[in-house]
Amino acid sequence: MSSLKQILVVGNGMVGHHFVEQLVQLKENTDKSVTYKITVLSAEPRLAYDRVHLSEYFSGKTADDLALTNLDIYAQWGVEVKTSAKVIAIDKVQRFVTIEGGETLAYDKLVIATGSYPFVPPIKGNDQEHCLVYRTIEDLEAIQASAQVSNVGVVIGGGLLGLEAANALKQLGLETHVVEFAPQLMAVQIDQGGGAVLKDKIEELGVKVHTQKATTEIVKSDQSRYKLVFSDDTALETDLILFSAGIRPHDELAKVSDLAMGERGGIVINNQCLTSDENIYAIGECALWNNFIFGLVAPGYQMAKVAASHILGDVNSFTGADMSTKLKLMGVDVGSIGDAHGKTPLSQSYTFENQPEGIYKKIVVSEDKTQLLGAVLVGDTSDYDTLLQYMLNGLTLPEAPESLILPMATDKPALGADALPDSAIICSCHNVSKGDIVQAVEQGACDVNAIKQCTKASTGCGGCAALVKNVTDSELAARGVEVNTDLCEHFAYSRTELYHIVKAEKITTFDQLLEKHGKGLGCEICKPTAGSILASVWNDYVLKDQHLPLQDTNDLFLANMQKDGTYSVVPRIPGGEITPDKLITIGEVAKKYNLYTKITGGQRIDLFGARVEQLPDIWRELIDAGLETGHAYGKSLRTVKSCVGSTWCRYGVQDSVSMALLVENRYKGLRSPHKIKMAVSGCTRECAEAQSKDIGVIATDKGWNLYVCGNGGMKPRHADLFATDLDDVSLIQYIDRILMFYVATADRLQRTSVWLENLEGGLDYLKQVVIDDHLGINAELESQMAHIVGSYQCEWKTTIEDPEKLKRFKHYVNSDKSDDNIVFVTEREQIRPARFDEKIRVKTIEAI
Ligand SMILES: Cc1cc2nc3c(=O)[nH]c(=O)nc-3n(C[C@H](O)[C@H](O)[C@H](O)COP(=O)(O)OP(=O)(O)OC[C@H]3O[C@@H](n4cnc5c(N)ncnc54)[C@H](O)[C@@H]3O)c2cc1C
Ligand code: SF4
Ligand code: SF4
Repeated sequence: MSSLKQILVVGNGMVGHHFVEQLVQLKENTDKSVTYKITVLSAEPRLAYDRVHLSEYFSGKTADDLALTNLDIYAQWGVEVKTSAKVIAIDKVQRFVTIEGGETLAYDKLVIATGSYPFVPPIKGNDQEHCLVYRTIEDLEAIQASAQVSNVGVVIGGGLLGLEAANALKQLGLETHVVEFAPQLMAVQIDQGGGAVLKDKIEELGVKVHTQKATTEIVKSDQSRYKLVFSDDTALETDLILFSAGIRPHDELAKVSDLAMGERGGIVINNQCLTSDENIYAIGECALWNNFIFGLVAPGYQMAKVAASHILGDVNSFTGADMSTKLKLMGVDVGSIGDAHGKTPLSQSYTFENQPEGIYKKIVVSEDKTQLLGAVLVGDTSDYDTLLQYMLNGLTLPEAPESLILPMATDKPALGADALPDSAIICSCHNVSKGDIVQAVEQGACDVNAIKQCTKASTGCGGCAALVKNVTDSELAARGVEVNTDLCEHFAYSRTELYHIVKAEKITTFDQLLEKHGKGLGCEICKPTAGSILASVWNDYVLKDQHLPLQDTNDLFLANMQKDGTYSVVPRIPGGEITPDKLITIGEVAKKYNLYTKITGGQRIDLFGARVEQLPDIWRELIDAGLETGHAYGKSLRTVKSCVGSTWCRYGVQDSVSMALLVENRYKGLRSPHKIKMAVSGCTRECAEAQSKDIGVIATDKGWNLYVCGNGGMKPRHADLFATDLDDVSLIQYIDRILMFYVATADRLQRTSVWLENLEGGLDYLKQVVIDDHLGINAELESQMAHIVGSYQCEWKTTIEDPEKLKRFKHYVNSDKSDDNIVFVTEREQIRPARFDEKIRVKTIEAI
């Protein structure tokens, strides 16, 4: 006869849910004489959601997008759930719990997964309105509501979560400050040097960081809503305060039911995650193992697995967890591995710092320099995967360990997937080893999605995504399986293959391409990709009816949409050279249409704040004065920056402006997988910063040095020197070939920097193709470029000459009314978009 075991899970956070998932899976393979009845009690009003990615709520994800499960799934699993059901007491003897409101529920085994709560420091005034925390979806809703009536926000706490919260405040449009008690940011994960670089980078992004500040009081203020008063008698004005000063375990249940607890809180557990009561387990952030609370999700998942298997009669052990982390904080890459502070006795360290570019790397090694103990990476985490594998697998370090972090080290060892042992942990969240992936491939998984489904690798924090792909691809390749590079479910071809199909078969529309080589209706991946390929090959007018559905918003209106729904207007100013008359026209247009003007890093003038219906009139005036589109909206050539060169500068050795004009006018219509930027400097002093561009040209006494595939932006890359002392003709010939080869072979949305890094054979191979004509395609590349150059048209000129096309430039389909949600205020004598509270004020005044 089958016996029934009641399993009660208190808390349905990430770990509580993972426990349920594990138990449901594991019980399938166990003794069927026992039936398990699982009941979940959740204090929150909803089922488990992805707290790790909570901040994505502010970038448009909904509660449903973040959900890890739903009622249907639990019903299918036979799991009963009660939400908004806070457990307030446990009777260990009679084995039942009491829910707020009085209901009781019996258990055979109880699992406490109550997680933790944000610690709010005992500062006078901390309980006022607009003093908030960052842990649940409801917290985020409260922050959003408060931000709408606030101008300034302060996060108290400069740890990992504090910086994530600061990013959210910034995204919500607030002037943002971080106040930290310690002398540095992220003091737990990174060392002082890394903390200093991180602070600089975060301040560059517009968040003010105040370290070594102890807040003593929050008082009302006349200037803002509140004033934070610090112990050093300074103060900071703010409207919203977000506490992110650490977490505390939700251990009240242990307290009231007399379970063993740590001195500073936490429910004490053993290696099987059992508390001091043999029928009660504790897992996740409420559990104290070896006097340690783990504030990350991966250790909680491991505890969940151990507890589930113990309930089913197996003895697995929780043996601690690696706390290494890699994350992006406000776009700044930060990585922390193992003993980041070098606390291991006699350990040694190597540090590399590139101050101008804000990169800091440190490795901590054993006394004999053979083992990696820890690392800190700020500004560049490209070495993280390799370093982590060295540490986790105890791999012997190369003779010069510093080569692991030095950027130019020619013998820099990169741990390829093949070099890793089967025991190497690839995904820490789900404890997936390389061996698990190998096994899944052997059992038929044939792409990363299949690996994700059957091993769960890379479905936690996602930090291992690149490594999972590498291991999967390398295992597939080793078995002779072709790695799936399909563009999407509608086309079983890579972007490169589609490019060649379009060209070879003279396909001119997406419908033809879909009919002959695809299936279904197309999607947001294949449509713009096909649009870009068709434009690259045929250089057709992008607003032709058949191409319209392929364009994104910016291309559709030939302008970049800004955050308030207005558009920018960017005329081309080749090489940054402009006549006074054209400058006057730009100024007059800006004045007439009340546009904000700004000189950009690409040496041209952007005009902001144009309503969609104003765009044609504005462009008509600009074009009449001899200006043309700057393609700021397209994946195409943006600008060619130049210095004044030998014409004016006493150091100049060549005429950099003429070369920049030649280059910009030649490539200005070229549509490509991503945007392209170029620059020409008149001598090696490099005032035009050519080495940070996709194509960089630097004058020499004998001609021009050509640099390729550099990048500024989010992930800077120094350009590689491709050829030296070229004459004008060879220079243009090489650029023609390189650009067309990039257009033909890059992946969708791949900048030249990433393209080159992924190109098998790298720079040497590119030289073989372009200089030695290794593939015999140079004539074809040149003729393709000649076609693009010869068929150039200013898209705005074509548009304003076609009354049919102009009909699309209005805000409402059925009315000529303007978007009344667009409101400007004046700042520094120009317009800027009004913030939410200002909009309300302006509208109220208008109404009066
Ligand atoms: C913004 C943010 C970003 C994060 N980023 C990362 C990251 O990048 N990487 C990482 O590893 N970790 C990250 N974390 C931490 C990670 O989310 C936690 O480690 C993880 O959620 C812990 O899971 P848990 O189930 O133990 O606790 P929780 O997720 O807190 O769940 C506990 C649940 O129990 C409920 N509960 C509490 N008491 C009771 C009671 N008496 N009765 C019933 N229910 C109760 C709570 O309401 C809650 O729903 C982040 C956390 C936040 C807030
Ligand atoms: S790069 Fe050389 S030529 Fe150009 S402005 Fe600077 S110093 Fe002068
Ligand atoms: S202009 Fe570029 S760098 Fe500046 S905020 Fe926008 S995306 Fe970021």
